[in-house]
Amino acid sequence: MIQYPPVPSYYAASANPAPVRPALRGTCEADVCVVGAGYTGLSTALFLAEAGFRVVVLEAATVGWGASGRNGGQIVNSFSRDLDSIERQTSADHLKLLAEMAFEGSQIIRQRVKSYGIHCDLKEGGIFAALNPKQLKHLEGQQTLWQRFGYEQLELLDRAAIGKRVGTERYVGGAIDHTGGHIHPLNLALGEAAALESRGGVIHEHSAVTEVFPGKTAIVKTEQGEVRAQYVVLAGNAYLGGLVPELGAKSMPCGSQIIATEPLEEALAKKLLPADNCVEDCNYLLDYFRLSGDNRLIYGGGVVYGARDPANIERLIRPNMLKTFPALANVKIDYAWTGNFLLTLSRLPQLGRLHENVFYSQGCSGHGVTFTHVAGKALALAIQGQAERFDAFASLPHYPFPGGRAFRVPLTAMGAWYYAVRDRLGV
Ligand SMILES: Cc1cc2nc3c(=O)[nH]c(=O)nc-3n(C[C@H](O)[C@H](O)[C@H](O)COP(=O)(O)OP(=O)(O)OC[C@H]3O[C@@H](n4cnc5c(N)ncnc54)[C@H](O)[C@@H]3O)c2cc1C
Repeated sequence: MIQYPPVPSYYAASANPAPVRPALRGTCEADVCVVGAGYTGLSTALFLAEAGFRVVVLEAATVGWGASGRNGGQIVNSFSRDLDSIERQTSADHLKLLAEMAFEGSQIIRQRVKSYGIHCDLKEGGIFAALNPKQLKHLEGQQTLWQRFGYEQLELLDRAAIGKRVGTERYVGGAIDHTGGHIHPLNLALGEAAALESRGGVIHEHSAVTEVFPGKTAIVKTEQGEVRAQYVVLAGNAYLGGLVPELGAKSMPCGSQIIATEPLEEALAKKLLPADNCVEDCNYLLDYFRLSGDNRLIYGGGVVYGARDPANIERLIRPNMLKTFPALANVKIDYAWTGNFLLTLSRLPQLGRLHENVFYSQGCSGHGVTFTHVAGKALALAIQGQAERFDAFASLPHYPFPGGRAFRVPLTAMGAWYYAVRDRLGV
Protein backbone atom coordinates (compact mmCIF):
# COMPACT_ATOMS: atom_id res chain seq x y z
CA MET A 1 0.00 0.00 0.00
CA ILE A 2 1.33 3.49 -0.86
CA GLN A 3 2.24 5.49 2.25
CA TYR A 4 1.18 9.14 2.02
CA PRO A 5 3.57 11.37 3.98
CA PRO A 6 2.13 13.39 6.87
CA VAL A 7 1.71 17.09 6.05
CA PRO A 8 4.00 19.25 8.24
CA SER A 9 1.35 21.95 8.60
CA TYR A 10 0.02 23.95 11.51
CA TYR A 11 -3.37 22.51 10.63
CA ALA A 12 -2.23 18.90 11.00
CA ALA A 13 -0.63 19.80 14.32
CA SER A 14 -3.85 21.39 15.61
CA ALA A 15 -6.40 19.03 14.04
CA ASN A 16 -9.48 18.02 16.02
CA PRO A 17 -9.50 14.34 17.03
CA ALA A 18 -10.76 11.99 14.30
CA PRO A 19 -11.56 8.28 14.31
CA VAL A 20 -9.44 5.68 12.52
CA ARG A 21 -11.14 4.98 9.19
CA PRO A 22 -10.05 1.55 7.97
CA ALA A 23 -9.08 0.82 4.38
CA LEU A 24 -11.64 -0.82 2.11
CA ARG A 25 -11.34 -4.59 2.08
CA GLY A 26 -13.55 -6.83 -0.06
CA THR A 27 -16.62 -5.82 -2.02
CA CYS A 28 -19.31 -3.40 -0.95
CA GLU A 29 -22.32 -1.79 -2.59
CA ALA A 30 -23.42 1.82 -2.58
CA ASP A 31 -25.68 4.18 -4.45
CA VAL A 32 -22.76 6.54 -4.97
CA CYS A 33 -19.01 6.04 -4.69
CA VAL A 34 -17.01 9.25 -4.25
CA VAL A 35 -13.27 9.27 -4.97
CA GLY A 36 -11.43 11.75 -2.72
CA ALA A 37 -12.18 13.13 0.75
CA GLY A 38 -11.44 16.80 0.17
CA TYR A 39 -14.19 19.43 0.20
CA THR A 40 -15.47 18.41 -3.26
CA GLY A 41 -15.90 14.77 -2.28
CA LEU A 42 -17.15 15.44 1.25
CA SER A 43 -19.54 18.17 0.20
CA THR A 44 -21.06 15.98 -2.54
CA ALA A 45 -21.26 12.98 -0.23
CA LEU A 46 -22.88 14.96 2.58
CA PHE A 47 -25.56 16.48 0.33
CA LEU A 48 -26.33 12.98 -0.97
CA ALA A 49 -26.38 11.36 2.46
CA GLU A 50 -28.74 14.10 3.65
CA ALA A 51 -31.01 13.15 0.73
CA GLY A 52 -30.99 9.49 1.82
CA PHE A 53 -28.39 8.02 -0.56
CA ARG A 54 -25.97 5.28 0.55
CA VAL A 55 -22.57 6.87 -0.03
CA VAL A 56 -19.06 5.42 0.21
CA VAL A 57 -16.06 7.76 0.01
CA LEU A 58 -12.66 6.31 -0.90
CA GLU A 59 -9.67 8.42 0.11
CA ALA A 60 -6.10 7.54 -0.89
CA ALA A 61 -4.57 9.12 2.22
CA THR A 62 -6.67 10.59 5.05
CA VAL A 63 -9.59 13.03 5.20
CA GLY A 64 -8.40 16.50 4.13
CA TRP A 65 -4.91 15.31 3.22
CA GLY A 66 -5.04 17.23 -0.08
CA ALA A 67 -5.54 20.95 -0.64
CA SER A 68 -8.65 21.03 1.56
CA GLY A 69 -6.60 20.40 4.67
CA ARG A 70 -3.65 22.63 3.75
CA ASN A 71 -5.05 25.81 2.23
CA GLY A 72 -5.06 29.44 3.30
CA GLY A 73 -8.47 28.98 4.91
CA GLN A 74 -9.92 31.99 3.10
CA ILE A 75 -13.61 31.90 2.24
CA VAL A 76 -13.67 33.84 -1.02
CA ASN A 77 -16.85 34.37 -2.99
CA SER A 78 -17.24 33.94 -6.76
CA PHE A 79 -14.81 31.99 -8.94
CA SER A 80 -11.15 32.33 -9.96
CA ARG A 81 -12.37 34.14 -13.08
CA ASP A 82 -15.23 36.46 -12.29
CA LEU A 83 -18.76 36.65 -13.68
CA ASP A 84 -17.86 39.06 -16.50
CA SER A 85 -15.58 36.42 -17.96
CA ILE A 86 -18.26 33.75 -17.51
CA GLU A 87 -20.81 36.04 -19.16
CA ARG A 88 -18.80 35.91 -22.39
CA GLN A 89 -18.73 32.12 -22.38
CA THR A 90 -22.22 30.90 -21.61
CA SER A 91 -25.94 31.55 -22.13
CA ALA A 92 -28.02 34.02 -20.11
CA ASP A 93 -29.85 31.18 -18.29
CA HIS A 94 -26.63 29.45 -17.27
CA LEU A 95 -25.08 32.78 -16.26
CA LYS A 96 -28.02 33.47 -13.94
CA LEU A 97 -27.52 30.16 -12.14
CA LEU A 98 -23.74 30.55 -11.99
CA ALA A 99 -24.16 34.04 -10.53
CA GLU A 100 -26.45 32.67 -7.81
CA MET A 101 -23.93 29.96 -6.99
CA ALA A 102 -21.03 32.44 -6.98
CA PHE A 103 -22.20 33.72 -3.59
CA GLU A 104 -23.66 30.52 -2.15
CA GLY A 105 -20.55 28.57 -1.15
CA SER A 106 -19.84 30.82 1.83
CA GLN A 107 -23.41 30.26 3.05
CA ILE A 108 -23.20 26.49 2.64
CA ILE A 109 -20.05 26.48 4.79
CA ARG A 110 -21.73 28.56 7.49
CA GLN A 111 -24.81 26.31 7.47
CA ARG A 112 -22.63 23.22 7.80
CA VAL A 113 -20.63 24.73 10.64
CA LYS A 114 -23.82 25.71 12.44
CA SER A 115 -25.97 22.65 11.92
CA TYR A 116 -23.24 20.11 12.63
CA GLY A 117 -21.45 22.15 15.34
CA ILE A 118 -18.10 22.09 13.52
CA HIS A 119 -15.24 23.65 15.48
CA CYS A 120 -13.08 25.32 12.82
CA ASP A 121 -12.35 28.84 14.13
CA LEU A 122 -14.77 30.49 11.69
CA LYS A 123 -14.21 34.26 11.53
CA GLU A 124 -15.99 36.86 9.44
CA GLY A 125 -14.83 39.23 6.68
CA GLY A 126 -12.44 38.82 3.75
CA ILE A 127 -10.35 41.66 2.35
CA PHE A 128 -9.06 42.16 -1.19
CA ALA A 129 -6.07 44.51 -0.87
CA ALA A 130 -4.93 46.80 -3.71
CA LEU A 131 -1.21 47.45 -4.08
CA ASN A 132 -1.66 50.17 -6.71
CA PRO A 133 -4.37 52.44 -8.20
CA LYS A 134 -4.96 50.06 -11.12
CA GLN A 135 -5.90 47.27 -8.71
CA LEU A 136 -8.16 49.62 -6.75
CA LYS A 137 -9.94 50.55 -9.95
CA HIS A 138 -10.36 46.88 -10.69
CA LEU A 139 -12.02 46.40 -7.28
CA GLU A 140 -14.44 49.25 -8.05
CA GLY A 141 -15.34 47.34 -11.20
CA GLN A 142 -15.75 44.14 -9.16
CA GLN A 143 -18.16 45.88 -6.81
CA THR A 144 -20.25 47.14 -9.74
CA LEU A 145 -20.17 43.70 -11.34
CA TRP A 146 -21.26 41.90 -8.17
CA GLN A 147 -23.99 44.50 -7.58
CA ARG A 148 -25.25 43.86 -11.11
CA PHE A 149 -25.83 40.26 -10.00
CA GLY A 150 -27.59 41.33 -6.81
CA TYR A 151 -24.69 41.01 -4.35
CA GLU A 152 -24.38 44.04 -2.05
CA GLN A 153 -21.91 42.83 0.56
CA LEU A 154 -18.68 44.08 -1.05
CA GLU A 155 -17.63 47.41 0.48
CA LEU A 156 -14.81 49.51 -0.96
CA LEU A 157 -12.08 50.71 1.41
CA ASP A 158 -9.90 53.76 0.85
CA ARG A 159 -6.34 53.94 2.17
CA ALA A 160 -7.44 55.10 5.63
CA ALA A 161 -10.20 52.48 5.90
CA ILE A 162 -7.98 49.55 4.95
CA GLY A 163 -5.35 50.87 7.34
CA LYS A 164 -7.84 50.35 10.17
CA ARG A 165 -8.16 46.67 9.24
CA VAL A 166 -4.65 45.77 8.06
CA GLY A 167 -1.59 47.22 9.83
CA THR A 168 0.67 47.81 6.83
CA GLU A 169 1.55 50.76 4.61
CA ARG A 170 1.53 48.62 1.47
CA TYR A 171 -2.05 49.05 0.34
CA VAL A 172 -3.59 52.03 -1.43
CA GLY A 173 -7.06 50.70 -0.63
CA GLY A 174 -9.15 47.59 -1.04
CA ALA A 175 -12.54 46.03 -0.49
CA ILE A 176 -14.07 43.97 2.27
CA ASP A 177 -16.46 41.16 1.45
CA HIS A 178 -18.72 40.87 4.45
CA THR A 179 -19.74 37.29 3.68
CA GLY A 180 -16.11 36.28 3.13
CA GLY A 181 -14.18 35.03 6.12
CA HIS A 182 -11.78 32.36 7.25
CA ILE A 183 -11.56 28.94 8.85
CA HIS A 184 -9.17 26.24 10.03
CA PRO A 185 -9.48 24.31 6.76
CA LEU A 186 -8.55 20.84 7.98
CA ASN A 187 -10.96 21.06 10.88
CA LEU A 188 -13.72 22.05 8.47
CA ALA A 189 -12.96 18.93 6.38
CA LEU A 190 -12.84 16.72 9.49
CA GLY A 191 -16.12 18.21 10.70
CA GLU A 192 -17.77 17.55 7.36
CA ALA A 193 -16.47 13.97 7.40
CA ALA A 194 -18.00 13.46 10.85
CA ALA A 195 -21.25 15.04 9.62
CA LEU A 196 -21.30 12.61 6.70
CA GLU A 197 -20.80 9.65 9.02
CA SER A 198 -23.57 10.93 11.30
CA ARG A 199 -25.85 10.67 8.23
CA GLY A 200 -24.82 7.07 7.51
CA GLY A 201 -22.05 7.76 4.96
CA VAL A 202 -18.93 5.60 5.04
CA ILE A 203 -15.35 6.80 4.52
CA HIS A 204 -12.44 4.47 3.85
CA GLU A 205 -9.01 6.06 4.24
CA HIS A 206 -5.78 4.57 2.81
CA SER A 207 -7.91 3.37 -0.10
CA ALA A 208 -6.44 4.73 -3.33
CA VAL A 209 -8.66 4.05 -6.30
CA THR A 210 -6.68 2.24 -8.98
CA GLU A 211 -9.33 1.71 -11.66
CA VAL A 212 -12.87 2.77 -12.47
CA PHE A 213 -14.96 0.53 -14.72
CA PRO A 214 -18.06 2.34 -15.98
CA GLY A 215 -21.29 0.48 -16.68
CA LYS A 216 -24.87 0.34 -15.40
CA THR A 217 -23.29 -0.65 -12.11
CA ALA A 218 -19.87 0.99 -12.03
CA ILE A 219 -16.99 -0.81 -10.32
CA VAL A 220 -14.43 1.24 -8.43
CA LYS A 221 -11.34 -0.73 -7.51
CA THR A 222 -8.73 -0.24 -4.82
CA GLU A 223 -5.76 -2.48 -4.08
CA GLN A 224 -7.74 -4.57 -1.60
CA GLY A 225 -11.37 -4.12 -2.52
CA GLU A 226 -14.05 -2.70 -4.77
CA VAL A 227 -17.23 -0.66 -4.55
CA ARG A 228 -20.16 -1.41 -6.88
CA ALA A 229 -22.18 1.75 -7.30
CA GLN A 230 -24.90 3.31 -9.45
CA TYR A 231 -22.95 6.55 -9.65
CA VAL A 232 -19.32 7.57 -9.30
CA VAL A 233 -18.00 11.06 -8.49
CA LEU A 234 -14.32 11.75 -9.15
CA ALA A 235 -13.09 14.40 -6.72
CA GLY A 236 -9.31 13.87 -6.64
CA ASN A 237 -8.52 17.30 -8.11
CA ALA A 238 -4.74 18.04 -8.15
CA TYR A 239 -3.96 14.70 -6.49
CA LEU A 240 -5.86 12.49 -8.94
CA GLY A 241 -2.59 11.75 -10.79
CA GLY A 242 -2.88 9.50 -13.80
CA LEU A 243 -6.13 7.76 -12.80
CA VAL A 244 -8.07 9.47 -15.61
CA PRO A 245 -5.67 10.75 -18.32
CA GLU A 246 -8.51 12.70 -19.98
CA LEU A 247 -8.86 14.88 -16.86
CA GLY A 248 -5.10 15.31 -16.48
CA ALA A 249 -4.75 16.62 -20.04
CA LYS A 250 -6.96 19.64 -19.43
CA SER A 251 -5.55 20.74 -16.08
CA MET A 252 -2.23 21.30 -14.33
CA PRO A 253 -1.33 20.76 -10.64
CA CYS A 254 0.42 23.82 -9.14
CA GLY A 255 1.97 24.30 -5.72
CA SER A 256 1.29 27.09 -3.26
CA GLN A 257 3.30 27.50 -0.06
CA ILE A 258 2.36 28.64 3.44
CA ILE A 259 4.19 29.48 6.66
CA ALA A 260 2.78 29.87 10.17
CA THR A 261 4.50 31.95 12.83
CA GLU A 262 4.71 31.12 16.49
CA PRO A 263 1.63 32.45 18.41
CA LEU A 264 1.83 36.25 18.53
CA GLU A 265 1.31 38.41 21.58
CA GLU A 266 -2.29 39.67 21.60
CA ALA A 267 -1.16 43.31 21.17
CA LEU A 268 1.00 42.49 18.14
CA ALA A 269 -1.74 40.38 16.53
CA LYS A 270 -4.19 43.27 17.01
CA LYS A 271 -1.69 45.66 15.42
CA LEU A 272 -1.34 43.50 12.31
CA LEU A 273 -4.98 42.61 11.80
CA PRO A 274 -7.16 44.71 14.15
CA ALA A 275 -10.44 43.40 12.69
CA ASP A 276 -9.21 39.78 12.41
CA ASN A 277 -10.23 39.57 8.75
CA CYS A 278 -8.36 37.50 6.18
CA VAL A 279 -6.54 39.28 3.38
CA GLU A 280 -5.47 38.49 -0.15
CA ASP A 281 -3.77 41.02 -2.38
CA CYS A 282 -4.77 41.65 -5.98
CA ASN A 283 -1.58 40.48 -7.69
CA TYR A 284 -1.78 37.68 -10.24
CA LEU A 285 0.67 35.72 -8.03
CA LEU A 286 -1.00 36.81 -4.86
CA ASP A 287 -0.06 36.86 -1.16
CA TYR A 288 -2.73 35.77 1.33
CA PHE A 289 -2.73 35.87 5.11
CA ARG A 290 -4.81 35.75 8.28
CA LEU A 291 -4.59 35.01 11.97
CA SER A 292 -5.24 31.50 13.25
CA GLY A 293 -7.44 30.75 16.26
CA ASP A 294 -4.33 30.95 18.47
CA ASN A 295 -2.99 34.18 16.93
CA ARG A 296 -0.37 32.83 14.57
CA LEU A 297 0.06 34.70 11.31
CA ILE A 298 -0.61 32.23 8.50
CA TYR A 299 1.01 33.67 5.37
CA GLY A 300 0.86 32.09 1.91
CA GLY A 301 2.33 32.91 -1.44
CA GLY A 302 1.51 32.52 -5.11
CA VAL A 303 2.17 29.72 -7.52
CA VAL A 304 5.58 28.12 -7.30
CA TYR A 305 6.89 25.09 -9.14
CA GLY A 306 9.00 22.83 -6.91
CA ALA A 307 10.27 24.32 -3.59
CA ARG A 308 9.04 21.48 -1.47
CA ASP A 309 11.18 21.23 1.64
CA PRO A 310 10.10 23.39 4.60
CA ALA A 311 13.40 25.34 4.85
CA ASN A 312 13.05 26.28 1.23
CA ILE A 313 9.43 27.35 1.74
CA GLU A 314 10.36 29.60 4.66
CA ARG A 315 13.10 31.24 2.53
CA LEU A 316 10.56 31.81 -0.20
CA ILE A 317 7.59 33.18 1.76
CA ARG A 318 9.16 34.93 4.78
CA PRO A 319 10.53 37.90 2.77
CA ASN A 320 6.99 38.59 1.45
CA MET A 321 5.61 38.42 4.97
CA LEU A 322 8.25 40.89 6.20
CA LYS A 323 7.51 43.25 3.33
CA THR A 324 3.91 43.38 4.57
CA PHE A 325 4.70 43.28 8.30
CA PRO A 326 8.31 44.35 9.07
CA ALA A 327 7.46 44.10 12.79
CA LEU A 328 7.68 40.29 12.48
CA ALA A 329 11.45 40.32 11.82
CA ASN A 330 12.23 38.51 15.06
CA VAL A 331 9.25 36.20 15.10
CA LYS A 332 9.88 32.49 14.69
CA ILE A 333 8.30 30.41 11.92
CA ASP A 334 6.89 27.24 13.48
CA TYR A 335 5.48 25.55 10.37
CA ALA A 336 6.05 25.61 6.61
CA TRP A 337 4.20 23.46 4.11
CA THR A 338 3.07 23.18 0.54
CA GLY A 339 -0.05 21.96 -1.22
CA ASN A 340 -1.34 21.52 -4.74
CA PHE A 341 -4.33 23.11 -6.37
CA LEU A 342 -5.45 22.44 -9.93
CA LEU A 343 -5.14 25.12 -12.59
CA THR A 344 -7.20 25.16 -15.79
CA LEU A 345 -6.32 27.22 -18.85
CA SER A 346 -9.41 29.43 -18.49
CA ARG A 347 -9.05 29.43 -14.67
CA LEU A 348 -12.70 28.33 -14.59
CA PRO A 349 -13.67 25.06 -12.89
CA GLN A 350 -14.42 21.94 -14.90
CA LEU A 351 -17.51 19.86 -14.14
CA GLY A 352 -18.59 17.08 -16.45
CA ARG A 353 -19.40 13.42 -17.02
CA LEU A 354 -17.01 10.79 -18.31
CA HIS A 355 -19.96 8.40 -18.76
CA GLU A 356 -23.68 8.69 -18.07
CA ASN A 357 -23.14 7.87 -14.38
CA VAL A 358 -19.49 8.92 -13.81
CA PHE A 359 -19.18 12.58 -12.82
CA TYR A 360 -16.19 14.77 -12.05
CA SER A 361 -15.42 18.21 -10.69
CA GLN A 362 -11.97 19.75 -10.69
CA GLY A 363 -9.81 22.77 -11.36
CA CYS A 364 -11.01 25.67 -9.23
CA SER A 365 -7.62 27.27 -9.94
CA GLY A 366 -6.78 28.52 -6.47
CA HIS A 367 -10.16 29.71 -5.16
CA GLY A 368 -11.78 26.47 -4.16
CA VAL A 369 -13.01 26.69 -0.58
CA THR A 370 -16.41 28.05 -1.59
CA PHE A 371 -16.56 26.60 -5.10
CA THR A 372 -16.07 23.01 -3.92
CA HIS A 373 -19.08 23.34 -1.64
CA VAL A 374 -21.21 24.68 -4.47
CA ALA A 375 -19.90 21.97 -6.80
CA GLY A 376 -20.87 19.34 -4.23
CA LYS A 377 -24.43 20.63 -4.26
CA ALA A 378 -24.55 20.74 -8.08
CA LEU A 379 -23.22 17.17 -8.35
CA ALA A 380 -25.56 15.85 -5.67
CA LEU A 381 -28.58 17.47 -7.34
CA ALA A 382 -27.54 16.10 -10.75
CA ILE A 383 -27.43 12.59 -9.29
CA GLN A 384 -30.93 13.21 -7.94
CA GLY A 385 -32.08 14.10 -11.46
CA GLN A 386 -31.98 17.90 -11.11
CA ALA A 387 -29.09 18.79 -13.38
CA GLU A 388 -29.67 22.52 -14.02
CA ARG A 389 -26.81 23.69 -11.80
CA PHE A 390 -24.49 20.97 -13.03
CA ASP A 391 -25.36 21.82 -16.65
CA ALA A 392 -24.62 25.49 -16.03
CA PHE A 393 -21.08 24.60 -14.90
CA ALA A 394 -20.71 21.99 -17.62
CA SER A 395 -21.59 24.62 -20.25
CA LEU A 396 -18.26 26.38 -19.61
CA PRO A 397 -15.69 25.31 -22.21
CA HIS A 398 -12.73 23.11 -21.15
CA TYR A 399 -9.45 23.65 -22.99
CA PRO A 400 -6.36 21.43 -23.11
CA PHE A 401 -3.13 23.07 -21.92
CA PRO A 402 -0.93 24.11 -24.86
CA GLY A 403 2.37 22.24 -25.00
CA GLY A 404 0.95 18.97 -23.64
CA ARG A 405 2.47 17.39 -20.53
CA ALA A 406 6.05 18.27 -21.56
CA PHE A 407 5.64 22.01 -22.14
CA ARG A 408 2.57 23.07 -20.14
CA VAL A 409 4.67 23.92 -17.05
CA PRO A 410 7.27 26.19 -18.75
CA LEU A 411 4.62 27.83 -20.94
CA THR A 412 2.33 28.55 -17.99
CA ALA A 413 5.26 29.75 -15.85
CA MET A 414 6.18 32.19 -18.62
CA GLY A 415 2.60 33.46 -18.69
CA ALA A 416 2.56 33.87 -14.90
CA TRP A 417 5.91 35.68 -15.02
CA TYR A 418 4.47 38.13 -17.58
CA TYR A 419 1.55 38.96 -15.26
CA ALA A 420 3.83 39.17 -12.22
CA VAL A 421 6.01 41.76 -13.97
CA ARG A 422 2.92 43.78 -14.91
CA ASP A 423 1.80 43.67 -11.25
CA ARG A 424 5.20 44.85 -10.07
CA LEU A 425 5.07 47.75 -12.51
CA GLY A 426 1.43 48.47 -11.62
CA VAL A 427 0.39 48.44 -15.32
C1 LIG B 1 -1.58 25.99 -0.33
C2 LIG B 1 -2.96 26.25 -0.84
C3 LIG B 1 -3.66 27.37 -0.40
C4 LIG B 1 -4.96 27.59 -0.83
N1 LIG B 1 -5.66 28.61 -0.28
C5 LIG B 1 -6.96 28.78 -0.61
C6 LIG B 1 -7.74 29.74 0.05
O1 LIG B 1 -7.29 30.41 0.98
N2 LIG B 1 -9.03 29.92 -0.36
C7 LIG B 1 -9.57 29.17 -1.37
O2 LIG B 1 -10.72 29.38 -1.72
N3 LIG B 1 -8.88 28.19 -1.95
C8 LIG B 1 -7.60 27.96 -1.59
N4 LIG B 1 -6.89 26.95 -2.15
C9 LIG B 1 -7.60 26.02 -3.08
C10 LIG B 1 -8.46 25.01 -2.33
O3 LIG B 1 -7.80 24.52 -1.20
C11 LIG B 1 -8.80 23.85 -3.27
O4 LIG B 1 -9.35 24.37 -4.44
C12 LIG B 1 -9.79 22.87 -2.66
O5 LIG B 1 -9.44 22.49 -1.37
C13 LIG B 1 -9.89 21.65 -3.56
O6 LIG B 1 -10.67 20.68 -2.92
P1 LIG B 1 -10.85 19.26 -3.57
O7 LIG B 1 -11.69 18.45 -2.67
O8 LIG B 1 -11.34 19.41 -4.97
O9 LIG B 1 -9.38 18.66 -3.68
P2 LIG B 1 -8.42 18.16 -2.51
O10 LIG B 1 -8.70 18.84 -1.25
O11 LIG B 1 -7.03 18.22 -3.04
O12 LIG B 1 -8.87 16.65 -2.28
C14 LIG B 1 -8.65 15.64 -3.22
C15 LIG B 1 -8.52 14.34 -2.44
O13 LIG B 1 -8.61 13.25 -3.36
C16 LIG B 1 -7.72 12.25 -2.92
N5 LIG B 1 -7.43 11.41 -4.07
C17 LIG B 1 -6.79 11.74 -5.21
N6 LIG B 1 -6.69 10.68 -6.03
C18 LIG B 1 -7.29 9.65 -5.40
C19 LIG B 1 -7.50 8.28 -5.74
N7 LIG B 1 -7.06 7.75 -6.87
N8 LIG B 1 -8.16 7.50 -4.85
C20 LIG B 1 -8.63 8.02 -3.68
N9 LIG B 1 -8.43 9.30 -3.31
C21 LIG B 1 -7.77 10.11 -4.15
C22 LIG B 1 -6.52 13.01 -2.40
O14 LIG B 1 -5.74 12.24 -1.52
C23 LIG B 1 -7.16 14.21 -1.72
O15 LIG B 1 -7.39 14.02 -0.35
C24 LIG B 1 -5.57 26.71 -1.77
C25 LIG B 1 -4.87 25.59 -2.22
C26 LIG B 1 -3.58 25.35 -1.76
C27 LIG B 1 -2.87 24.13 -2.25
